Amino acid sequence: MLIDDIMTSLLYFLVTIIIFVLMEGVAWFLHKYVMHSFGWFLHEDHHRYTGKRFQKNDVFGLFFAIVSFLFILSGILPGFDVKLAIGIGIMLYGTGYFLVHDIFFHRRIRIGYRPSGKCMQRVLKAHAIHHQKSTPYSGVNFGFLYAGKRAILD
Ligand SMILES: [Zn+2]
Ligand SMILES: [Zn+2]
Repeated sequence: MLIDDIMTSLLYFLVTIIIFVLMEGVAWFLHKYVMHSFGWFLHEDHHRYTGKRFQKNDVFGLFFAIVSFLFILSGILPGFDVKLAIGIGIMLYGTGYFLVHDIFFHRRIRIGYRPSGKCMQRVLKAHAIHHQKSTPYSGVNFGFLYAGKRAILD
Protein backbone atom coordinates (compact mmCIF):
# COMPACT_ATOMS: atom_id res chain seq x y z
CA MET A 1 0.00 0.00 0.00
CA LEU A 2 1.21 3.48 -0.86
CA ILE A 3 0.24 4.97 2.49
CA ASP A 4 2.28 2.30 4.26
CA ASP A 5 5.28 3.15 2.12
CA ILE A 6 4.93 6.84 2.93
CA MET A 7 4.63 6.12 6.67
CA THR A 8 7.65 3.81 6.55
CA SER A 9 9.69 6.43 4.68
CA LEU A 10 8.72 9.10 7.22
CA LEU A 11 9.65 6.78 10.05
CA TYR A 12 13.04 6.03 8.48
CA PHE A 13 13.63 9.73 7.93
CA LEU A 14 12.88 10.34 11.61
CA VAL A 15 15.23 7.50 12.62
CA THR A 16 17.98 9.06 10.48
CA ILE A 17 17.58 12.42 12.25
CA ILE A 18 17.47 10.82 15.70
CA ILE A 19 20.63 8.82 14.97
CA PHE A 20 22.37 11.97 13.72
CA VAL A 21 21.57 13.76 16.98
CA LEU A 22 22.49 10.72 19.10
CA MET A 23 25.83 10.46 17.30
CA GLU A 24 26.88 13.85 18.71
CA GLY A 25 26.31 12.32 22.15
CA VAL A 26 28.24 9.18 21.19
CA ALA A 27 31.10 11.29 19.80
CA TRP A 28 31.13 13.50 22.91
CA PHE A 29 31.25 10.43 25.17
CA LEU A 30 33.98 8.81 23.11
CA HIS A 31 36.03 12.01 23.00
CA LYS A 32 35.75 12.57 26.77
CA TYR A 33 35.98 9.03 28.12
CA VAL A 34 38.03 7.16 25.51
CA MET A 35 40.11 9.61 23.49
CA HIS A 36 41.10 11.68 26.55
CA SER A 37 41.63 8.52 28.57
CA PHE A 38 42.88 5.05 27.65
CA GLY A 39 42.53 5.88 23.94
CA TRP A 40 44.84 8.90 24.19
CA PHE A 41 47.60 7.08 22.27
CA LEU A 42 45.33 7.30 19.21
CA HIS A 43 44.09 10.86 19.84
CA GLU A 44 47.46 12.33 20.85
CA ASP A 45 48.64 13.23 17.37
CA HIS A 46 45.49 15.26 16.83
CA HIS A 47 46.42 17.52 19.74
CA ARG A 48 50.01 17.98 18.78
CA TYR A 49 50.26 18.87 15.15
CA THR A 50 52.54 16.54 13.29
CA GLY A 51 51.85 18.17 9.94
CA LYS A 52 51.27 14.76 8.42
CA ARG A 53 48.47 14.10 5.97
CA PHE A 54 46.88 11.44 8.15
CA GLN A 55 46.65 11.10 11.91
CA LYS A 56 46.30 8.06 14.13
CA ASN A 57 43.20 9.88 15.36
CA ASP A 58 41.57 9.18 11.99
CA VAL A 59 40.95 5.57 13.07
CA PHE A 60 37.93 6.84 15.02
CA GLY A 61 36.39 8.31 11.87
CA LEU A 62 37.35 5.21 9.91
CA PHE A 63 35.73 3.00 12.54
CA PHE A 64 32.42 4.86 12.23
CA ALA A 65 32.65 4.87 8.43
CA ILE A 66 32.88 1.05 8.54
CA VAL A 67 30.03 0.77 11.06
CA SER A 68 27.91 3.06 8.88
CA PHE A 69 28.78 1.10 5.74
CA LEU A 70 27.83 -2.21 7.39
CA PHE A 71 24.50 -0.78 8.56
CA ILE A 72 23.74 0.55 5.07
CA LEU A 73 24.74 -2.69 3.38
CA SER A 74 22.80 -4.92 5.76
CA GLY A 75 19.88 -2.51 5.50
CA ILE A 76 19.76 -2.74 1.72
CA LEU A 77 20.42 -6.45 1.23
CA PRO A 78 17.24 -7.79 2.90
CA GLY A 79 15.19 -5.25 0.93
CA PHE A 80 15.42 -1.91 2.72
CA ASP A 81 14.92 -2.10 6.44
CA VAL A 82 15.55 0.35 9.25
CA LYS A 83 19.27 -0.45 9.39
CA LEU A 84 19.60 1.61 6.21
CA ALA A 85 18.16 4.66 8.01
CA ILE A 86 20.55 4.09 10.94
CA GLY A 87 23.54 3.77 8.59
CA ILE A 88 22.60 6.97 6.76
CA GLY A 89 22.27 8.79 10.10
CA ILE A 90 25.81 7.74 11.09
CA MET A 91 27.09 8.65 7.63
CA LEU A 92 25.53 12.13 7.78
CA TYR A 93 27.04 12.72 11.20
CA GLY A 94 30.44 11.64 9.90
CA THR A 95 30.05 14.02 6.98
CA GLY A 96 29.13 16.86 9.35
CA TYR A 97 32.07 16.02 11.60
CA PHE A 98 34.47 15.97 8.68
CA LEU A 99 33.13 19.23 7.26
CA VAL A 100 33.03 21.20 10.52
CA HIS A 101 35.93 19.71 12.45
CA ASP A 102 38.41 18.68 9.75
CA ILE A 103 37.70 21.25 7.04
CA PHE A 104 36.20 24.39 8.65
CA PHE A 105 38.23 24.21 11.83
CA HIS A 106 41.49 22.36 11.11
CA ARG A 107 41.54 23.24 7.39
CA ARG A 108 42.85 19.84 6.39
CA ILE A 109 41.37 20.63 3.02
CA ARG A 110 41.62 24.30 2.15
CA ILE A 111 38.43 25.56 0.62
CA GLY A 112 38.86 29.23 1.53
CA TYR A 113 35.59 29.34 3.38
CA ARG A 114 34.68 29.42 7.03
CA PRO A 115 31.06 29.73 8.12
CA SER A 116 30.27 33.03 9.81
CA GLY A 117 26.92 32.14 11.40
CA LYS A 118 26.69 32.66 15.15
CA CYS A 119 25.99 29.03 15.96
CA MET A 120 28.89 27.73 13.92
CA GLN A 121 31.23 30.42 15.30
CA ARG A 122 30.36 29.18 18.75
CA VAL A 123 31.09 25.55 17.83
CA LEU A 124 34.43 26.49 16.24
CA LYS A 125 35.40 28.69 19.19
CA ALA A 126 34.54 25.90 21.62
CA HIS A 127 36.81 23.53 19.72
CA ALA A 128 39.64 26.08 19.73
CA ILE A 129 39.33 26.20 23.52
CA HIS A 130 39.28 22.38 23.59
CA HIS A 131 42.66 22.39 21.88
CA GLN A 132 44.04 25.07 24.20
CA LYS A 133 42.88 23.73 27.53
CA SER A 134 42.73 19.95 27.25
CA THR A 135 45.33 17.53 28.53
CA PRO A 136 45.61 13.77 27.85
CA TYR A 137 43.33 12.88 30.75
CA SER A 138 41.09 15.90 31.15
CA GLY A 139 39.67 18.71 29.12
CA VAL A 140 36.77 20.93 28.12
CA ASN A 141 34.28 21.10 25.23
CA PHE A 142 34.25 17.55 23.95
CA GLY A 143 31.41 18.04 21.45
CA PHE A 144 32.06 18.46 17.74
CA LEU A 145 28.90 19.84 16.16
CA TYR A 146 27.24 21.42 19.16
CA ALA A 147 28.41 23.77 21.89
CA GLY A 148 25.80 24.02 24.63
CA LYS A 149 25.29 26.43 27.50
CA ARG A 150 28.06 24.89 29.52
CA ALA A 151 30.65 25.26 26.77
CA ILE A 152 33.71 27.21 27.84
CA LEU A 153 34.36 29.95 25.34
CA ASP A 154 37.24 31.92 26.81
ZN1 LIG B 1 40.56 16.09 22.08
ZN1 LIG C 1 40.34 19.12 16.68
